[in-house]
Order: sequence, then C-alpha cells, then structure tokens
Amino acid sequence: MTLSKSELTEIEQIKNSFPNLTTEHKSSVSQEEMIQAVRTLLLGLGEDPDREGLKDTPKRVVKALQFLTSGYHQSLDELLNGAVFHEDTDEMVLVRDIDLFSSCEHHILPILGRAHVAYIPNGKVIGLSKIARICEMYARRLQVQERLTAQIADAIQGLLKPKGVAVVIEATHMCMVMRGVQKPGSWTSTSAVKGVFAEDAKTRQEFMSLIRHNPNFH
Ligand SMILES: [Zn+2]
Repeated sequence: MTLSKSELTEIEQIKNSFPNLTTEHKSSVSQEEMIQAVRTLLLGLGEDPDREGLKDTPKRVVKALQFLTSGYHQSLDELLNGAVFHEDTDEMVLVRDIDLFSSCEHHILPILGRAHVAYIPNGKVIGLSKIARICEMYARRLQVQERLTAQIADAIQGLLKPKGVAVVIEATHMCMVMRGVQKPGSWTSTSAVKGVFAEDAKTRQEFMSLIRHNPNFH
C-alpha cells in the first residue's frame, strides 16, 4: 500500500495540529510504517484491509492513537503558560468530576472515568481550568490508573508547593468490561494524597465527603 501525497499531507497536518509540543519522545518510526503495521494487524485478524469499509482504517487508527497519546508531547510549562498566581488563601480548592479519557498500557483500550483534585494553597494557586488540562495531559498517554493518579498529584505538588494535594480517580477499564472478566459496571478507585491530606485525617475526611457520590459510568 502506498499513500497518496494528499494523505501524507493530511498526516503531517495532524502532527502539526498540536501546538506547544515538545519533542522529547521522538520516534524513528515513520507514519507510513505505522499505517502498514495496522494493515498487518487487520490481515492477521483475517480481515481484508482493501475492502471498502477498511480502506482508510489504518490511517484513521494511527491518527486516533496519535491523538490519544498526544500528552507525551506536552509539558507542564507549556500547558500552564504562566497561569500561576499569588494568593493568600489556605482554603481547600477542589475541582471534582473532571472527565477522564485515557488508554490502558496493557491493552491500549479505553479507561473512562472521573478525577477529583484538591489542594490547599501555600501562597500560590493556578487557574481552575488548568487542573483539568493537567489531568488531560497525563490521561493522553498509555497509562495505568495508579500512575495517572500519582502523576497528577506530583504535578500539582511540584508546581504550587501547596500545603497538601489529594487526587482521587474513579474509572472503568474497557479491557475488563469488554474482555477478560467481563464485568460491566466494575470500577476502580485510586488515590494519591500528600501533605496535610496525608497527615491530617480530618482534612482528608473533608475532601472525601466533598467528593462522595455514586459513580455511574453507564
Ligand atoms: Zn488493560
């Protein structure tokens, strides 16, 4: 299979459609090799990659995977763009029910869930939307839920040096729901707590009671 010039241009546009990218994870594999690999997968599955419905599938799969892993090419600095402010408050800041779409690194299947992120400032705050953007950046990588949770907590900790950080993620893993144990409705909860949230049970309980609800992903 060879790609037309317009197809290659389109792929180049996809690569360029994520501004503010760093190139810390440069790959030596070409777009065409990736597309060929998906084509090989389809053949291995007994499919005919040349039939009408699948004609553009390898290209689409590569495009989708690049989008879903575009967080590898983002950095906190670029994402925040200086949106850290001085503020004399020590009240808990909580953003709950942040939609999370990630991909498990074992099966490259979706992890769907919600994140709740809280911190207690120590002179510095960030724009609330940036908290969701931080979650998104780490979610758009191949992940395990535990690491995703820890990375978000570490990022907030590193950026703001707050008095405490707490992150809880509740998610359902399609690799469990659609295959393997096939348990629709099962979900996994992970948490990472630092500072006062780790040291002070009362603060932690306040956070937990603020985020308590019945998760429902269906
Ligand atoms: Zn998995």
